[in-house]
Amino acid sequence: MGWFANWRRRKILRERPLSEALWARAVSPYAFIAALDKDETRRLRDLVVLFLDEKQLHGAANFGISDEARIAIAAQACLPVLNLGLEWYAGWVGVIVYPGEFKVARTIVDDDGVVHEFDDALSGEAWPDGPVVLSWQDASLSEPGYNVVIHEFAHKIHMLHGDDDAGFPRPHADMDNARWDMSFEAAYARFCGAVDRELPTRMDPYGAEHPAEFFAVASETFFTDAAGLRDEFPAVYRELSAFYRQDPLARRISDKAAC
Ligand SMILES: [Zn+2]
Repeated sequence: MGWFANWRRRKILRERPLSEALWARAVSPYAFIAALDKDETRRLRDLVVLFLDEKQLHGAANFGISDEARIAIAAQACLPVLNLGLEWYAGWVGVIVYPGEFKVARTIVDDDGVVHEFDDALSGEAWPDGPVVLSWQDASLSEPGYNVVIHEFAHKIHMLHGDDDAGFPRPHADMDNARWDMSFEAAYARFCGAVDRELPTRMDPYGAEHPAEFFAVASETFFTDAAGLRDEFPAVYRELSAFYRQDPLARRISDKAAC
C-alpha cells in the first residue's frame, strides 16, 4: 500500500473513533468475535472503521441498516482478513443488505435444450468485481458452523486471485502447494461422499456443490466452529490456519456464548 493510502487510513482512524458501547452492542451476539484477545479486538475494530469508510453498505427492499448492523456485518467480514489486510477486498465497493432472503432470477438450459426460468431464494451472493449481497436475517445469526457473511467474503478472497469456478483458491507463496491441494481434494471427496450418504457433518452440506463452495463453507466452520472443522477435517483446518494466519482453536470459543 502506498504512503498516501496509509496516511489516509491513519487519519480516518484518528478522526472516527468507534464508540465502545456501540461496538459491544453490535458484536455481542457473535461468540467467535467475543473470543478474540485484546490485541486482535483492537485491530479488528480498526479494520471495521476502515471497511465502513472504503465500502458502501446499502439497504435493499426498504431495509434501513442500523449502525449496529453495519458494524456487525463489517466485523464478520473483516475477521478473515484480520492478519491479511483489507487489500484482499480491493476492486469493488458495494454491500447490499436485504432484510431477509432475496430472490434471484435463474435460467438454465437442460440436456434437451429446453430453457427453464425460476427464482432462487438466497441468503447471500458475491459477484466477481461487484457487490456482496446479504440477508440481514442470516447475517445477524450466530450459529456454530453457519455464517453467511464469512461465506460470501471467503468467495471474495477466492475471487481476488482467480476464477472461483476453477476449483479451490491458491495458497500463499510461502505455503506448500501440493499439501494444500492434497488436503482440500481429499477432504472434498470425503465430504461429498458423506453428504451423498446423508451422514451427519459439522459443515453445511451445501459445501458439496463445488470446490469453491467447499472452501467458503470450510471458512465459515473454521471461524465459528473451529473444533468441529479440526475434528472432521484436520488437514483443512491446518491449511486454513496457515492461509488466514489465524488459529481460532486457541481462542476457546465458549459453548455457552456460541448458542
Ligand atoms: Zn457460496
